[in-house]
Amino acid sequence: MNIHRATHLGMCFGVRDAIELALDRAAREPVTILGDLVHNPTVLGRLRRNGIQIEADPGRVNTASVMITAHGASERRIGALQARGFRVTEATCPLVRVAHRALKSLVAAGFHPVVVGLRGHVEVRGMTEDLEGFEVVLNEAEVDALAERPRFGVIAQTTQPIARVRELVAQLRRRFPRSEIRFVDTVCQPTKQRQHAAEELAQRCQAIVVVGGAHSNNTRQLAETCRRHGARVYRVETAADLDTAWFTGVSDVGLTAGTSTPDETIATVEARLREIGAGLASGERRAGGPGEGSRPGSAVSAALALSHS
Ligand code: SF4
Repeated sequence: MNIHRATHLGMCFGVRDAIELALDRAAREPVTILGDLVHNPTVLGRLRRNGIQIEADPGRVNTASVMITAHGASERRIGALQARGFRVTEATCPLVRVAHRALKSLVAAGFHPVVVGLRGHVEVRGMTEDLEGFEVVLNEAEVDALAERPRFGVIAQTTQPIARVRELVAQLRRRFPRSEIRFVDTVCQPTKQRQHAAEELAQRCQAIVVVGGAHSNNTRQLAETCRRHGARVYRVETAADLDTAWFTGVSDVGLTAGTSTPDETIATVEARLREIGAGLASGERRAGGPGEGSRPGSAVSAALALSHS
């Protein structure tokens, strides 16, 4: 079984910097991170082991120092925290700040703001909470349901697949041909690189393993991109989630990981895949070749793929 690593995968600079900032702050004073710094249980466990508290509700925070995650927050929210007496450290990724500024500029220029993203996601809330009126869309039906405006200004959540974002912008143009539509591409470069590398993998591998937190939006987007390109996709958080049966009869397996996945987790998943490949190869040698029903696309492997999609 050949294992192919994506040319770009795993933790981005924005998440790395946020983790470093949190650890640095925790070394000086007790600190609480407001919400998940990243949607990855391995990283969150490391932060907790370093004495960092993680709490979504500011009402339950018992430290004077709080930290905003890489996903960012609205000025309104930060101001409210400061008004309650908290010292606020912002670990907001610079590329999330770029998206905030783009949206504000569009509003200042008279465009009605539209965010292509996941409604309720912490990053999207941070982008929109300071606005009086805005739209969040994630599919064609939501675009079609918008009321007509003379001018729409569109940005995207930084972790959305750019191809999908462009499709929705095109749909907006078709739906409102009389409106002026200005689109600012705010999908971040690390997301684009990981998406592009995942597409390449999906075109040459029968199965793709996507490593990342179950609640990580960009990990889910990577999995969906691979599925759209025809690969069987297995999402795992750690090596312990891998199942040998998924790879029976598979010659090429792709490996990719979301932007919050630590290098060590990717390395242990890759090592376990190699063990699985070696085990399957020796089993096939003993049996004289792959058995009936173990080829990719068989009923067994298809059922497994569906159960883990
Ligand atoms: S995914 Fe992109 S926007 Fe989010 S933290 Fe990483 S680099 Fe920044």
